[in-house]
Amino acid sequence: MPRKKKTETPTQTEPVEKRKPGRPKKTEAEKALKKEAPKSDEYEALKEKLFMQNKHAEFSMSVSEITKSNLFCNGYKQFLDNAKTEREAVNEAVRIARTFGYEPFDRKKKYAAGDKIYHVNRGKAVIFASIGTRPLTDGVRIVASHIDAPRIDLKPNPLYEDCDIALFKTHYYGGIKKYQWTTIPLALHGVVVRKDGSTVDIVYGEDEREPKLYISDLLPHLAKDQSSRTLSGGILGEELNIIVGSRPVKNEKLGDKVKLNIMRILNEKYGIVEEDFLSAELEAVPAFKACDIGFDESMIGAYGHDDRVCAYTSLMAQMYGVNNEYTSICVLADKEEIGSVGATGLNSDYIKNFITSLARPYGLDSYDVLENTVCISADVSVAHDPTWASVTEKRNAAQLNRGVCMTKYTGAGGKSGSNDASAEFCGKIRRMLDNAGVVWQTGELGKVDQGGGGTVARYVASMEIDVIDMGIPVLSMHSPYELVAKYDVYMAYKAFLAFVAGGELK
Ligand code: MN
Ligand code: MN
Repeated sequence: MPRKKKTETPTQTEPVEKRKPGRPKKTEAEKALKKEAPKSDEYEALKEKLFMQNKHAEFSMSVSEITKSNLFCNGYKQFLDNAKTEREAVNEAVRIARTFGYEPFDRKKKYAAGDKIYHVNRGKAVIFASIGTRPLTDGVRIVASHIDAPRIDLKPNPLYEDCDIALFKTHYYGGIKKYQWTTIPLALHGVVVRKDGSTVDIVYGEDEREPKLYISDLLPHLAKDQSSRTLSGGILGEELNIIVGSRPVKNEKLGDKVKLNIMRILNEKYGIVEEDFLSAELEAVPAFKACDIGFDESMIGAYGHDDRVCAYTSLMAQMYGVNNEYTSICVLADKEEIGSVGATGLNSDYIKNFITSLARPYGLDSYDVLENTVCISADVSVAHDPTWASVTEKRNAAQLNRGVCMTKYTGAGGKSGSNDASAEFCGKIRRMLDNAGVVWQTGELGKVDQGGGGTVARYVASMEIDVIDMGIPVLSMHSPYELVAKYDVYMAYKAFLAFVAGGELK
């Protein structure tokens, strides 16, 4: 008997779904996926389209660009050797700028497009400005880096003698691992203002034939007690005493014979007496020169990459960015390593005062200019170190040779003390970098709650300016001899050049 065909009930008005109960209806997304699903050999292209590209700069740079990068880094190494302190960095930067036609700033003058000026702040910070074709009310482009670096400062009353050895008492500057500063050759740089008001510049220990200074450490044979200290207490602040001499004057009866001999030498050489140390800034820095690192010459080892690597790259961008639409300002700041304090640190108003002076002859005040102003806080980033991999989160850490690093936020703990650039500003900067062919990456300062740090970004942002952190990844940051990769140095220069010499940020 044939099966009786089911018929619809005549009362039913809704269409009946022809599917088995229990199987869910396909969503629009599932339908689209099925429609566009690539063949298995197309997934590679899909991956390239959808995933973030993050590769060694070698694969994105042409041969001529690699050559340019090496030449650029030769200039950088020279700058490092000539600029071991903030004062020397100011002098060297001004010397370079003058060859590009920069002239001292005159507050009373009205500057026009094409004018190039510099303004030195107390010998320890400097602003360079190149006036653009657009009016100041369109805003200016600021790149701000710092030229102070961790070091060993002399105390105001430094010289003493103990057991026929003459030493300097010191007070370290910035965040250092104190044990790293012992048993290395040190040079002394700085200024002494004499009682009569005259100033003497001192650079001692940089010439290869010149003697160096030295901080001692304990021999391992007798370091039983020291070895049980924590690493941070391995060398204490008051143990960073610099040995400066050991030969007495020829008078056996006299006390402090070795100290007297040192003071006699200093007096002959620099015309100073002991009391002059009270009005001095003398900094002991590693006596090493910058040099290439690696069999492949791909890296540079030097004292003070943080942050002279950003100072030099931004300075060069300022110099080579000519006929710009926007007025560009390159700031080399002091005191970042101790919180951007003081009249030469960026927590002071000197950028704002400079901009006010530029604007006033046009009947404008600083607010009219700052409203549309944008800034890159150019400072180094931490590079992921495979030997110390546990402190960085690999997906969000910068790596050597992957280009300049854009850092949305710095800070510690819950982003405390960070500028945290807006998504909108990050978007504009991202497009600018891509359009300029810059190899770049992102990176944050270590794992969450592992530590942290800050830059000048927050102080610039306090003027209601959009700021983003950008810089070169560094290994062994704040040590006497830091490490960077050459490609990253060059890419930072390219990035800063795109920022100062580029058009509108969209
Ligand atoms: Mn820095
Ligand atoms: Mn630093």
